[in-house]
Amino acid sequence: MQIYRLPVLADNYIFLLHSPPQQIAAVVDPAEAAPVINQLAKLGAELTAIFNTHHHSDHVGGNRQLLQQFPNAIVYGGAEDKGRIPGQQVFLKEGDRVSFGQQPAEIFFVPGHTRAHIAYYFSPHFPGEPGELFCGDTLFAGSCGRLFEGTPAQMVDSLGKLRNLPDNTRVWCAHEYTLKNLQFALTVDPRNAELQSRFTEVATARRHHQATIPSWLGIEKRTNPFLRWDEPILQAAVNSQDPIQTFARLRGMKDTF
Ligand code: ZN
Ligand code: FE
Repeated sequence: MQIYRLPVLADNYIFLLHSPPQQIAAVVDPAEAAPVINQLAKLGAELTAIFNTHHHSDHVGGNRQLLQQFPNAIVYGGAEDKGRIPGQQVFLKEGDRVSFGQQPAEIFFVPGHTRAHIAYYFSPHFPGEPGELFCGDTLFAGSCGRLFEGTPAQMVDSLGKLRNLPDNTRVWCAHEYTLKNLQFALTVDPRNAELQSRFTEVATARRHHQATIPSWLGIEKRTNPFLRWDEPILQAAVNSQDPIQTFARLRGMKDTF
């Protein structure tokens, strides 16, 4: 499975999965159709699946037009998103499995950003290869999504599921927010040496207009404050000893950062 990253809108990424043997492709969160159609034409591949993580228009905006062009494509989304994702045919719950080409993906129910959000995890095809996590607006490189329809407790539970995955997992999140996220992270975790060097690398990449996605889950576990609600250093930064309160306070600070 090859993964292409298509930048769209102000700071969104669409991910296109391609399986060369069968010349089929799937797309994760098509904000727009045109860039996907162009990439499919370049590859000479047929679109067989649209994997949506949640109903926001910057994730599903291209669904209808893609279905016009590829009427046999199947639209997947969360069960709780029923009625909110254009063309949705498959309604996924925690622990369900989908497949693309020969590769199965596991579904995680990760409410918080929205009440219906799901993530798709492809475990490694061969030992030693990375897994691939498509997590929409739940986990970002250096941060997490805003809580529009969920509570801090729900988001901690959701992020906890993603945090349990192996370090050797590529994190394909849907927005290029990394630089600003790490600027915030440094305000609450200023002595974290790995975070400091990550910030320098990301700042350099962005100066050269390079993408910072995918990220690695291992790096997120060590430098993303929104995966570290149980670390004394972050609890001290927000004057709390409670994991969920720690997370909620961090999220509140980030909302106005
Ligand atoms: Zn969203
Ligand atoms: Fe989004």
